Amino acid sequence: MTILSSFFNRASNAIHAYPSCSKLLVLCTISSGGLVAYSESQAENETPSEKKKKVLVLGTGWAGTSFLKDIDVSHYDVQVISPRNYFAFTPLLPSVTCGTVEARSIVEPVRNIIKKRDGEVQFCEAECVKIDCAGKRVYCQSNIENNLVGNKEFSLEYDYLVIAVGAQVNTFNTPGVLENCHFLKEIEDAQKIRGTVIDCFEKAVLPGLSEEERKTNLRFVIVGGGPTGVEFAAELHDYIQEDLVNLYPIAKDLVKITMIQSGDHILNTFDERISSFAENKFQRDGIEILTGRRVVNVSEKEVAMKIKSTGESCSIPHGIVLWSTGVGTRPVIKDFMEQIGQKNRRALATDEWLKVKGCDNVYALGDCASIDQRKIMEDIATIFEAADKDNSGTLTVKEFQDVLDDIIIRYPQVELYLKSMHMSDVTDLFKDPRGTDATGVDIEGFKSALSHVDSQMKSLPATAQVAAQQGAYLSRCFNRMELCEQNPEGPRRFRGSGRHQFRPFCYKHFGQFAPLGGEQAAAELPGDWVSMGHSTQWLWYSVYASKQVSWRTRVLVVSDWLRRSIFGRDSSRI
Ligand code: FAD
Ligand code: MG
Repeated sequence: MTILSSFFNRASNAIHAYPSCSKLLVLCTISSGGLVAYSESQAENETPSEKKKKVLVLGTGWAGTSFLKDIDVSHYDVQVISPRNYFAFTPLLPSVTCGTVEARSIVEPVRNIIKKRDGEVQFCEAECVKIDCAGKRVYCQSNIENNLVGNKEFSLEYDYLVIAVGAQVNTFNTPGVLENCHFLKEIEDAQKIRGTVIDCFEKAVLPGLSEEERKTNLRFVIVGGGPTGVEFAAELHDYIQEDLVNLYPIAKDLVKITMIQSGDHILNTFDERISSFAENKFQRDGIEILTGRRVVNVSEKEVAMKIKSTGESCSIPHGIVLWSTGVGTRPVIKDFMEQIGQKNRRALATDEWLKVKGCDNVYALGDCASIDQRKIMEDIATIFEAADKDNSGTLTVKEFQDVLDDIIIRYPQVELYLKSMHMSDVTDLFKDPRGTDATGVDIEGFKSALSHVDSQMKSLPATAQVAAQQGAYLSRCFNRMELCEQNPEGPRRFRGSGRHQFRPFCYKHFGQFAPLGGEQAAAELPGDWVSMGHSTQWLWYSVYASKQVSWRTRVLVVSDWLRRSIFGRDSSRI
């Protein structure tokens, strides 16, 4: 069915493309004078009032491409800037480090993505180096190194700016990390790791080395026990046990993988059951886990750390270190945050509609941004006033219920709080301590009923799921901009009058996976469901195959998995 539908999509694209081809043919057959006249008449028809607003998108990652896929290009003049002319499916990056999946199988050229849009989307392979929100302009620099003829630097104006530049690795200023560690953020990082792993094995089997030296070359250290570190450890373990020990038999008893984690457990953002399942699995696999340690220095040969509980220092030798301890801010965002008075933050603060605070017409989404959810207690008096229709100074249950929907949309923490307190009905909040229903509450009662609600506010994780949903949300808002100006669809404004133009962004969590190697995975699914083992790995395969951005990458990824299961992974360092 899906193959058929993709065929029809392609056919319909070709049919869409055909009229312009036929137009070209007709135009080619008439005189060049006619051609000029045609283009002039086009220009005359375009009055300034019809001029499309210019939307500038920075970044072609999860957030940027998801925005691009849905934005109505007949309404906006869309331009994209990114230093990479492709989209990378980051959840499969750990598989690239060991050749389970090839790098080209998980990337989609941006120009393929924009070709699928009916209208024109412009793409420039360049990096944005400065954002000037007062002048509505961004400054860019081409990163094409080799012999670029002409100017590498240029600036672009915008009416709306969509910032989706992601984040960069965070070294926490630990000495030696930048110089001596590998990272796993970009395709190039994964390719570099793949080469270095093989180097380690080739170095270890050179003649004339002592056993200690061979062991050091084969000591793989991973700093950070989050999902990326765990997945890399699992991939590496499989690669070594399934492929490399057969090719390098003397390495079999010398190789060791060590994971260093500052917290007490690995995968500590996951359910406890998953975290202990992973720890047990790694223990059985011989992967060493050192918890409660903070790395203080990484030299060419050693990783030095401090044991948090005792303050003792110790170090271990390494052949390669992967640093995967979370994300930090890109320089262009740091600079922009200083300009707009958002210093000392990790990410750009936006409101619940993804609009950057303190800036007009600038939006930020994905890993470079974080939503500053408004606290209900900041608006408590105005909510009370708006809800108390009869100005009696008391809020009845009925009066509260009338504004409840708007409150829940505007302050999602209310619903989370009710869930966490196992309350089925919001009026339970107004019950007195003995559990009897209150007929009404005054402002003080109202404040105390809602006083703990804001404790449920959580910032969204830096994940592809969040970034992609934000991109889709924002393009929908842009596409409905005019419509919703006249008919606002958002909740009522408790401060001020009328309604908000749009509903705030609302994240839906579809669960998360942790592949653990040996054809086993763990998954945390919505509704407190946890699934672990071989069947979960099959679920992982089907979800990640279905989430591919194109049929081309889907076919490539699935055939890479098949290739690996038949022939194993390729160990040549090319
Ligand atoms: P990115 O996807 O990083 O995209 C940023 C884009 O901006 C890139 O195109 C970049 O080239 C461009 N850019 C950078 N600087 C500039 C500049 N100055 N000017 C213009 N453009 C710029 N999330 C999940 O939900 N599930 C997973 O399983 C998962 N696994 C992961 C595994 C790994 C190894 C990694 C590294 C991440 C994983 N994530 C996962 C997290 C996920 O990849 C990120 O949360 C997601 O990529 C964020 O999307 P984004 O669009 O904000 O940034
Ligand atoms: Mg009243």
